[in-house]
Amino acid sequence: MVSLGNPSFESAKEHGLLDLSVHNLGNGHLELPDGRQFINMCSCSYLGLSSHPAVLEGAIQALQKEKAMGLAVSRLRIRFSITDELEAELSSLYRARSMVTLSASAASAGILPLIASGHLSDGNPRVMVFDKASHFSMNLIKPICGDEAPVLTAPHNDLEFLEDVCRKHSRVAYVADGFYSMGGVTRVKELLALQDRYGLFLYFDDSHGLSVYGERGEGFVRALLGEELNPLTVIVGSLAKGFGTAGGVVMLGPAERADLVARFAGPMGWSQALGVPSIGASLASAKLHRTPELGRLQQALRDNIRLFDEHVPSPHRGEEFPIKVIEVGEEAQAVQRSRQVLDRGFYTSAVFFPIVARGKAGLRVMMRADIAQEDVLRLAEVLRDVTGQE
Ligand SMILES: *Cc1c(COP(=O)(O)O)cnc(C)c1O
Repeated sequence: MVSLGNPSFESAKEHGLLDLSVHNLGNGHLELPDGRQFINMCSCSYLGLSSHPAVLEGAIQALQKEKAMGLAVSRLRIRFSITDELEAELSSLYRARSMVTLSASAASAGILPLIASGHLSDGNPRVMVFDKASHFSMNLIKPICGDEAPVLTAPHNDLEFLEDVCRKHSRVAYVADGFYSMGGVTRVKELLALQDRYGLFLYFDDSHGLSVYGERGEGFVRALLGEELNPLTVIVGSLAKGFGTAGGVVMLGPAERADLVARFAGPMGWSQALGVPSIGASLASAKLHRTPELGRLQQALRDNIRLFDEHVPSPHRGEEFPIKVIEVGEEAQAVQRSRQVLDRGFYTSAVFFPIVARGKAGLRVMMRADIAQEDVLRLAEVLRDVTGQE
């Protein structure tokens, strides 16, 4: 991966597309040390909540209340009561016992091995099937899962492959993203049918779906599931994207699991607890999720996505999903074009192997609720000029 991927990173760096050191001017507008400004089109703060005044105030208030960044002890032993308040809030929003973690990555690192070993189900190991397009944070844990059970990689969204594994093995778990980082969704309805038929364990990382989908921002996957989370379903997500704060969350299913997970889910037990400002900010964001403002922001995001799609063709045009990848093919082309777009005031990320398959390089653009429509239109014009697409 390093030998094939690093030359593209080197090229991106030479073109001034990496290590940009900036100051925030608000609304996604950033300033470089030499005074040049640009709009960040690669932020996953889809609703703009990471700079919402109430969220910032929540962080300040929590610090003033507890007068410490943290307790410097495992959360398993001692934790600030605001952690429990936040977990109660999230459990209510997401209709499932929810635990906060340092990050979605830390949650997956801890929980996936417990699924492989069978500790989150009947105690027997499960064949672990990872979707080929699953996020790095989960793929990285394959070897640890491999210590507990066989690990397989399924072609992207290939449910026939998965069903075949289910026919051959009595205990199987499937690992997928809710929304994939390069566009496209997991096939929740069909996966639920396989869960019904074969007792399939489902593990979803819905980092891109949280806050963006669902009446209370419960995410793309949770919104499609029933009132109760099936004991064989776990959903994790990052709170540092649409939710606008920091940390991760796990929707656990049966509440009794919380103790086992707190004790044995790797970094969730031994790493630092979520910091006080992050907890305060998250309490404020959770509160916003109960107000009509959430719906307004979700709608503003959708309007911007639609506007962008009207003017810029991409493989996922027409999907109500904020991430769009405009394919250009060659790695060098992606880097050059991203640089040209930046010169005209917008940062888009040049994506290449190992972020996407070789020869499928492109420009990745994320829409947000807090981008003015005239800026979306200006971006569309720049992209049309630079990529030569109609
Ligand atoms: C961004 C992202 C992550 C990383 O989230 P952290 O909370 O920063 O660890 C994990 N999974 C997916 C699908 C992501 O998009």
